[in-house]
Amino acid sequence: MKVYAGIDPLTGREIRLRRTCRTERAAQIELGKLLEQAVAGRQPDSAVTVAQLLDQYVSTVGWDVSTRASNLGYIRRTIKPAIGSTQVRKVRGPLLDTLYARLMRCGNLTCTGKPFTEHRNIPDLRPDPADRRPEWEQVADGVRAAIRSGQLTSGDALPSVPDFAWLQGLKPGTVRHAFLALADEGLVHIHHGRTTTIAAEPAADEPGTRRQITRPGAGHDCKLSGCRPHVCKPMAKSTIHGIHAILSGAFEAAMRWEWTDRNPAASARPPTLRRQTILATSPEDVAKVIAEARTRSVAMGLYMWLVVVTGIRRGELCGLQIRDVDLDRALVHVAFNYVVRGGQRIRKDTKTHQDRWLAIDPVTCALIESYLAQIKAELAAVGAGLRDDAYLFSNDPAHARPWNPDWVSHRVAEVASGAGVELDIKGGRHYTASQLLAGGFDLRNTAARLGHSGGGATTLRHYADPVPEVDRRAAAYLAQLTAGPAPQSGGRP
Ligand SMILES: [Zn+2]
Ligand SMILES: [Zn+2]
Repeated sequence: MKVYAGIDPLTGREIRLRRTCRTERAAQIELGKLLEQAVAGRQPDSAVTVAQLLDQYVSTVGWDVSTRASNLGYIRRTIKPAIGSTQVRKVRGPLLDTLYARLMRCGNLTCTGKPFTEHRNIPDLRPDPADRRPEWEQVADGVRAAIRSGQLTSGDALPSVPDFAWLQGLKPGTVRHAFLALADEGLVHIHHGRTTTIAAEPAADEPGTRRQITRPGAGHDCKLSGCRPHVCKPMAKSTIHGIHAILSGAFEAAMRWEWTDRNPAASARPPTLRRQTILATSPEDVAKVIAEARTRSVAMGLYMWLVVVTGIRRGELCGLQIRDVDLDRALVHVAFNYVVRGGQRIRKDTKTHQDRWLAIDPVTCALIESYLAQIKAELAAVGAGLRDDAYLFSNDPAHARPWNPDWVSHRVAEVASGAGVELDIKGGRHYTASQLLAGGFDLRNTAARLGHSGGGATTLRHYADPVPEVDRRAAAYLAQLTAGPAPQSGGRP
């Protein structure tokens, strides 16, 4: 028997339910069952693949912008090439365990353990002497064009600055200048002290799976691209966990949608993560970094100060506007996160989709006040005023555009290395949390201060005073601890 059961909404193919029987009597009975099944719209033979499931899943799941970007990368670079064409119903736990084991050995899916050359897709960026533009601009433009054409895609690593310069016969300063310009547009990510990778979103029409270049095309120049023999590098356990979490969620959804009746990720075991405690930076070291930041600029000093005293996230601080700071009530309102992705500037909800009010202490108020006074004086000199929706931290004369979070990270890295201290913005938040807890402040308030979801943050919203007394003490405590002998609260910071 063959029964037509409509069009599979996912694959777009006709669904035909089939059964073979030995006798006509048995066939009649089976036919009745099949018709019933077809009417009920059940699709037991639905050939939906893992790739199709993931496409459907990512369009419905509520990831925040940064989680989405990294998860889409895992899906495109690893999950789809590995098991994208497998039917959802045929995925079993052992298949996933095999995948995880393989990634533990080497993160490159084309690797079979035999030696091969890893080709890179770096375009020819040697400057044209006839071109009147500066060399860095030509290099940056070449990278932009390669991203636009899909030659370079999200996650691709560029050679290091010295390698890049040597390979393409450029000056290291030219390459660095080009990288910084691209990072400012959000097109590349500069991982401090490590590699620079392409951050851009892939073009919308890019096919689901990433093309692995095993055999380079005509015109490819291994020397210019800096292609190297492949060296096996295990994928980080935390990344494998991330991949497992995506698969788990997707199969969970597949069960809800009745595309499968089990979740193979439930029986798969990703590698165990060893929890390591990171020691928080000492108050003395944090004070050193802030002192160093103040020598760079008042704004940088205030930014670094706010990182450790308020525990506000990098993008949240960038997103702070003048109206979010209430100096009369000694409060800061954290409502937005500012992110730059693929050249797009987005002002979005905070990471936990919940705004929060933070107490700030008198020292911090004074620092902000004198900082604002300075900006206002500068603007008044040219006959302008500071708007309510202007950003607190900006390189724009009217403060209309906030600092780029990636740019801030670089400045902070420079400041920290100038102070001889290992500290980044996340480390600053870590300091905030661990010092508060060590100082006897309760977990719930600390969680709320840092904007962690759960942990009592919701409770705060029901208070008449948006911040409880303990948060006032928390603010004063951190400020005092961090200031050491330093800031003169009356004068200029
Ligand atoms: Zn090559
Ligand atoms: Zn390998």
